[in-house]
Amino acid sequence: MTRMLARAAVLTEFHAPFDLATIDLGSPGHGQVLVRTLAAPFCSTDWMGWRAMRRKRPPVILGHTAVGMVEALGAGVSDLAVGDRVLVAGTPQCRECFYCQQGRPDQCSVLMDQGDPVIGTMHDGTEVRAAGRVGAYASHMRVDRIQLHPLPPDLPDAEASLLGCGISTAFGAIFRIAEVAPGQTVAVLGLGHLGLWAVQAARLAGAGEVIGIDPHPERRRLALELGADALVDPSREDAVGAVRARTAGRGADAVIEAAGSASATRDAVLMTRRAGTAVLTGVAHSDTEVSIPQLHLTVLGKRVIGCQNGQLTLDRDMPEWIALLREGRIDCSRILTHRYRLDEIDRAARQSQTLDDLSGVFVDFSSDRE
Ligand SMILES: [Zn+2]
Ligand SMILES: [Zn+2]
Repeated sequence: MTRMLARAAVLTEFHAPFDLATIDLGSPGHGQVLVRTLAAPFCSTDWMGWRAMRRKRPPVILGHTAVGMVEALGAGVSDLAVGDRVLVAGTPQCRECFYCQQGRPDQCSVLMDQGDPVIGTMHDGTEVRAAGRVGAYASHMRVDRIQLHPLPPDLPDAEASLLGCGISTAFGAIFRIAEVAPGQTVAVLGLGHLGLWAVQAARLAGAGEVIGIDPHPERRRLALELGADALVDPSREDAVGAVRARTAGRGADAVIEAAGSASATRDAVLMTRRAGTAVLTGVAHSDTEVSIPQLHLTVLGKRVIGCQNGQLTLDRDMPEWIALLREGRIDCSRILTHRYRLDEIDRAARQSQTLDDLSGVFVDFSSDRE
């Protein structure tokens, strides 16, 4: 089988511009698939990887989810064909490890214990890793079959690429973890793309009231358009007090933390009612510690649940999220704010940091130098 040369944006040094380089991906091994990338969202998690906050080991190709087309199949892959469109998800489902057998592939050992694999080599022979076992900021990816889900032909690439991280995380948080029931009050702390997907999911779950919390006025306005009933500006008022004031002093039935800081995590627990559920979806620096009054975790009976990619179980959840997207019940139009060429990656990273982007998606991986 011929070897695949991919054009990739490689993180070779923290805090430095990405290197656009040609990577020899080799050919797909047993259980692997070679996928041509069609769309890959720039995720704030990658921005954190760039800043050395996520224990990445350069040189590494970031980007942990994508939509692509199957170009070649390794041995042992018989349920996909060349030309199939697939979602490369942020979370695999190996079906064999301890966690998959417990029904928790969000903790699959392949992803969580094996780490980022060497995916190819640079022209001088230096080995390059693939973040999240994907490495989506490249024209091609060599990925495990267990990380792929077939896509129907009628979903546009850029929108569908949002399924693998933002949509699956927030919809999983609302429907699978908090299990929001009709009429319940949901507070969403942080209205970046994750929080705005959570607002939409809470609405679809039939929440009685959705409270959006963010200091950024434009993001609060978007939350209102996407289904929030009430807004809180935490730079002007105490968010915990504001949520309690709207819930007869109790706190929200479910709180989705989507800001990714220690103070937001603490606030999320404090604004959850007794015996309510706080779902933590935001990601902070790997060494961050959180201080929470112990009473809230014991006597007050709150459930505080960590949320890795919405506890995604690919074959259970993805058909449902795909159906919602196809039926137009998930609105991507406000959240998909930019489309980039791969060679604009430094700009995409800057815009993500300055909050000018909600979700920027790479849709063009061609080279103007080739
Ligand atoms: Zn992500
Ligand atoms: Zn597994």
